Amino acid sequence: MKIVTAGTGMAAAEFVEQLRLEGFDGEIVMIGDEDFPPYSPCVIPFYLAGESLDTVFWKGKDFYEKYRVTARLGEPVVQVDTERQVIHTADGKTEGYDRLFYATGSHSWYPRPDWLGTKGVFGFKTLGDMMAIDRYLKDQHVTEAVVFGGGFIGVDAALALKTRGVNVSLVHRNTRLLSQMTDEEGGQFATLKLAQKTGMDIRLRTIVEEIIHRNGQLTGVRLSDGREIATSLLILSIGVTPNSDSLQGDDKGICSNEQMLADSCIYTAGDVAITRHAVDGVPSIYANYPNAMRQARVAARHLLHGEGSYEGSLNTTVLRKHIDFPVISVGSFSGEAITWQQGDIWRRVYLVDGMINGYIIIGDTRLSGYLYQHYKDRTRVDGTIRKLISSHRHDGQYREMLGFAAA
Ligand SMILES: Cc1cc2nc3c(=O)[nH]c(=O)nc-3n(C[C@H](O)[C@H](O)[C@H](O)COP(=O)(O)OP(=O)(O)OC[C@H]3O[C@@H](n4cnc5c(N)ncnc54)[C@H](O)[C@@H]3O)c2cc1C
Repeated sequence: MKIVTAGTGMAAAEFVEQLRLEGFDGEIVMIGDEDFPPYSPCVIPFYLAGESLDTVFWKGKDFYEKYRVTARLGEPVVQVDTERQVIHTADGKTEGYDRLFYATGSHSWYPRPDWLGTKGVFGFKTLGDMMAIDRYLKDQHVTEAVVFGGGFIGVDAALALKTRGVNVSLVHRNTRLLSQMTDEEGGQFATLKLAQKTGMDIRLRTIVEEIIHRNGQLTGVRLSDGREIATSLLILSIGVTPNSDSLQGDDKGICSNEQMLADSCIYTAGDVAITRHAVDGVPSIYANYPNAMRQARVAARHLLHGEGSYEGSLNTTVLRKHIDFPVISVGSFSGEAITWQQGDIWRRVYLVDGMINGYIIIGDTRLSGYLYQHYKDRTRVDGTIRKLISSHRHDGQYREMLGFAAA
C-alpha cells in the first residue's frame, strides 16, 4: 500500500511516525509546500525570541531519512483527484496514492494582501515568516514594531519581539486582547496585566487602516482612530483560514468522521479538519496541537488495524510563552460564573448543571489540570468549586479537595 501525505506539518509528521513505529513497511511520500523537515509552529516564536533554530524540528532534522519517507518539498498540492486517486502539484507533477492523509493546516488571512509587498510587513505563521523577520530585525536594527491582531498568535508575536528587545504597539479590533480565549472580564484582566508586566503599548477597538511607506520601505501605520505610529516593522496576525481548497474547492475545512476519514481513502487531521467537540458535540475546527496529535494517531491506527475512533476535540488554549504570566482557557463561557481574584491571579469557572462548562485561569494555573480532568469527565463539582478556586493551595490539597487519590 502506498501512503501519501498532503502537508509535512505537525499532524502529518505524527501520522507518519505512528505508521512506522507500528511496523508499516510500505511506501510513504510526503508532499509539502515548504522546504523544511517537519517543524512545530508552537515553538517557532521561541526561535524568533532568540532560541536555536534546531529546537523547532521537534521530531528531528533527519525525519525523512529516519522514517524512510520520500519527501517532495516546495511543491504545493493544487488538486486532489479523488476518483483517480491522484494528487496534482503546482509544478504540473502528479503522485498517485492508495491512502491519502490530508493535513494542510491553515494559512494567515490578510486584510490587505498587497501590504506584504512592502519591505517591513510580515505574517506570523510559518518558519519562513520567522526566518524573514529574524533577518530583518538583524539587518535593520529594528527598535519599534507594530503587531496588528491581539489574539493568541498576535500576543505570542508581541511577546517574542519584546524578548528580542523591541518596543511593541499591539493593535486589536476588540475590547480586550485574547478575545477568543477569554470572556469580557477575564480578557480585560489579562490585557491590563500584560500591559503592566511588559510595558507594551496596547491599542484596543482599533485597526491598522493604512500603511505608510517610502520607496517600498515601511515607515509607519495609520490607525482607524486617525493616529499614526512610526515603525519599520509591521506584523499581521488577524486570523487564519483552512487550506482545504485543493481537496474540496473551498476554504471551509474538511469534515471527518470518528475515524478521521473524509472519504473511504482519505484521512484528515489538524487545523484543516472539522471534528466534533468532545463535550458539547459541536462540529468545528479546533485548531491546537493536542487535538492534531490525537487525530493523527486515530487515523494511523485505523489505517493499520481498522479500529479505534476519535473521542472529540477540546478547545484548550494555553498562553505561557516568553513571560511568567500564564493564561489558560477551556470550554464555553456560559452558565453560572464563579469568580475569584487576588493580586495577579484571576480564576473563573462556568457551571452548567453543577458541571464545569468552561474556565479561565490567569496568573497561577496550577489548578488547571484538575479542573480539566473534571471538565472532561463531566463530574459534579458544585459542592467544592467555590472553596477550591478561592484559595492558594498546593497540589496535594487540590487533589484531596477534588476527590482524586493522594499523589
Ligand atoms: C505561531 C504559532 C504558535 C502556535 N502555538 C501553539 C501553542 O502554543 N499550542 C498549541 O496547541 N497550538 C499552537 N499553535 C497551533 C498549532 O501549531 C497547530 O494546531 C498545529 O501545527 C496543527 O498541525 P497541522 O499539521 O494541522 O498544521 P501545520 O503544522 O501548520 O502543518 C500544515 C502543513 O501543510 C503545509 N501545506 C499547506 N498547504 C499545502 C499545500 N497546498 N500543499 C502542500 N503542503 C501544504 C504547510 O506548509 C504546513 O507545513 C500555534 C500556531 C502558530 C502558527
